[in-house]
Amino acid sequence: MQKPYLETQPNENGYFGKYGGAFLPPMLEEPFAQIQKEYQKLKNDPEFIEELKYVRKHYQGRPTPISFAKNLTEHCGGAKIYLKREDLNHTGAHKLNHCMAEVMLAKHLGKKKVIAETGAGQHGVALATAAAYFGLECEIHMGEVDIAKEHPNVVRMKILGAKVVPATHGLKTLKEAVDSAFGVYMETYEESLFCIGSVVGPHPFPMMIRDFQSVVGYESKEQFFEHEGKLPDHVIACIGGGSNAMGIFAGFIDDDVELIGVEPMGKGEKLGEHAASLTYGEEGVMHGFNSIMLKDAEGEPAPVYSIGSGIDYPSVGPEHAYLSSIGRTKVRLCNDEESVDAFFKLSQLEGIIPALESAHAVAYAMKLAKTLPSDKTILINLSGRGDKDIDFVVDNYEVPDTKF
Ligand SMILES: *Cc1c(COP(=O)(O)O)cnc(C)c1O
Repeated sequence: MQKPYLETQPNENGYFGKYGGAFLPPMLEEPFAQIQKEYQKLKNDPEFIEELKYVRKHYQGRPTPISFAKNLTEHCGGAKIYLKREDLNHTGAHKLNHCMAEVMLAKHLGKKKVIAETGAGQHGVALATAAAYFGLECEIHMGEVDIAKEHPNVVRMKILGAKVVPATHGLKTLKEAVDSAFGVYMETYEESLFCIGSVVGPHPFPMMIRDFQSVVGYESKEQFFEHEGKLPDHVIACIGGGSNAMGIFAGFIDDDVELIGVEPMGKGEKLGEHAASLTYGEEGVMHGFNSIMLKDAEGEPAPVYSIGSGIDYPSVGPEHAYLSSIGRTKVRLCNDEESVDAFFKLSQLEGIIPALESAHAVAYAMKLAKTLPSDKTILINLSGRGDKDIDFVVDNYEVPDTKF
């Protein structure tokens, strides 16, 4: 019998095919080797697993349900559309799935502080929450532009007891926040753990974050079966770094299910107007790992943009680069306008306000559903709720009248 895919990737050096690895300054090689060693131990430790299960069930609100989007399905007139409700996680997105586990890992490593970057503020809020729960200090780095755009999440982090550090260089968004957070970590690694917010960064983070998020896929497989008595035909998720997508893909990767990642097309095809790394990028190393990235004329990470602050990242998790290179996953695009349209449609037809990031997956699912017969099914990973986006959306777009 063939080994399950997840046991075969990455290899022991953290490579998914040719993508991944750990490109670290020499001083960080030892701390990262320690993280890797501790994780391998905890992964098979029944006590750690029990504690994580307990936290997920009694604190986070897992399992999150799968909802049939009946009205949206009728509106599109084709395949049946289902939603995996990661928006119902405590703190409103899938990110708590890996943050709780990362802070548990930090505790086991004897650290007293966690450090991270954040884009939309979702990872920051989730990590600040996990740090509060487990009693660790928390320092979050965030681009100044995102601080202005995602005000409610900034306030939430502060209320939760985290220190918020603005990244003031360059475009002042997610990439700069990563640089800033990594800089501080380099100086404080003995007492802190850098908690990466997606399936990116040096090995073992892409593997660990995938493993922590795979609960989404395993739950989905069982729950979808309850609804339909079969597996979904298509599974769709938005891709920034790719953690919510890897999480739900993990449940279906050995099955005959089409896996589709949706990248942000932003305002257009020109470099700087989008963040569609897999679609327009090329191989390169940034932030400590080899993957597909968007480069500027000098070969540096290019400026990127998307209306979804959590998905405007110039690279992508190495496992996504690998899976799309071997044809196991498909990559599709969704622009700002389509995402906002899906944001309003899901709100008005289903009573669910999605995050603008998640709305990218919804938008592509709506397009696909229309082309399929009614006996086909689509499962969307609804990665988060849109409360954080409501002010930005009503300030910049007219609320349409979808229903009547
Ligand atoms: C952070 C975020 C994303 C993007 O991150 P991935 O690692 O690509 O999943 C998507 N949706 C929401 C709601 C987020 O907060």
